[in-house]
Amino acid sequence: MNQSPPAPDPRTELGLLTAPGPLLLEPDKVLLPEGPVDGWAVVVRDGRFESVAPAAAVRRAHPGLRAVRLPGRLLMPGFVDAHHHLTQSFGAALAFGEPSEIFRRVWVPLEGSLDEESAYTAAKLAALEALRGGFTTVTDAGTRADVDVEVVAAAARDAGIRCVLGLVCNDADDDAAGGDDGRTTVVERAEKHLARYDGDPLVRASLAVSIPEAATEGTLRATARLAAEAGAVVQIHVNEHLAGVERSLVRHGLRPLEHLHAVGALGPQLLAAHATLLTPRELTLLADTGTAVSYNPVASAWKGNAVAPATAMAERGIRFGLGTDGTRGDGFRLAEAAEFAQRLAYGLAG
Ligand SMILES: [Zn+2]
Repeated sequence: MNQSPPAPDPRTELGLLTAPGPLLLEPDKVLLPEGPVDGWAVVVRDGRFESVAPAAAVRRAHPGLRAVRLPGRLLMPGFVDAHHHLTQSFGAALAFGEPSEIFRRVWVPLEGSLDEESAYTAAKLAALEALRGGFTTVTDAGTRADVDVEVVAAAARDAGIRCVLGLVCNDADDDAAGGDDGRTTVVERAEKHLARYDGDPLVRASLAVSIPEAATEGTLRATARLAAEAGAVVQIHVNEHLAGVERSLVRHGLRPLEHLHAVGALGPQLLAAHATLLTPRELTLLADTGTAVSYNPVASAWKGNAVAPATAMAERGIRFGLGTDGTRGDGFRLAEAAEFAQRLAYGLAG
C-alpha cells in the first residue's frame, strides 16, 4: 500500500454507530463466507445484519437511509465465544501447563475471594478484552464468586457485549445449595434466573453445572428440562480431565458424558464444555442427542490432557463452537489455534 486511507474521525463514527437504527454502512470491505469483498454495503437493524449486498443495490433498496462511510474498516459478523469465565480474568497469567483440575488450585479460590466490586471489575475487563478481540457474544459458564450474577450482567452491559449468562446450579455438596431441601432451592433459583433477563437487549440467561458430579441427578434432569422449555442452554464441563473421568467410572461405572446420558441430561439444550476425552461411543451420543460442544483449543494447550476431536464432530454433524475458556481473547488467533490443534492431534495420522 502506497497510500493509507484517510484517517476516520472516531468521534463522528461512534456518534453515527450509536444512533438508533437502521443503519446503512459502507465499509471498505465486507467479510463474506467466501472472503473479503470491496464495494459492498450492509443494513443493520435492531442489532442484526438485515441486508448484505453490493452497495449500489443496497442503496437502491433503502432510498430513505443515508449511507455511513467507514473508510479503512472491514465489517464482519462478530465472533461468539462459546466458553468463558468472565470473573476469572485476574488469574489469566496463572494458567500454564497444569494437567489436572487446575480449577481446584486456582479458579475456585480466586473466584471465592471476589467481592461485588472486584467481580464486576474482573468481568468488565474480560468483556472489554473480548470486544477488542472481535467477539460480540461471550458465553459465561457461571461464576463461583459469592455475588449476585447481576454483577456480571452489569459488567457485560456496561462494556456493550452480548452475554449468555450462566447461573451455577451445583447442589451435590452439602453447603452448595443451602436450606434443608437443597434441590428445590437450586431449581427455584434456576427458574427465577431463566425468567430474569426476558427482554434484556444484551443478556440471555443460561444454567450451569460445573462438572456432572457437582449436581445431584435430580438437578441434572431438572436443569435440562427447564432450559429446554425456556430455549436456553445448560453449560457443563464434560470429560475435561482424566481425574474426573476416573471418578465417574468408579462411582457410576460410566464416563461423565455417559452418566449425563443415563440421567437424561443430554440434548440440544446442553452445551458441553471441552469434551476432550471422548470415546467413539460418546461421539455417537453427542450426535444422536443433538448436544452441542464448546471446543476450547487453547485450554488444551495449557491443560495438556487432550484435544476435542472437532474434525470428527464436524464430520458427524455435531454442533460445536470455539471457546476461549478465558484465554486467547482474540477471535482470529483462536480460530488459528483451533485449526492448529486439530492438525497436530488428528491431521498427521493420515
Ligand atoms: Zn471452563
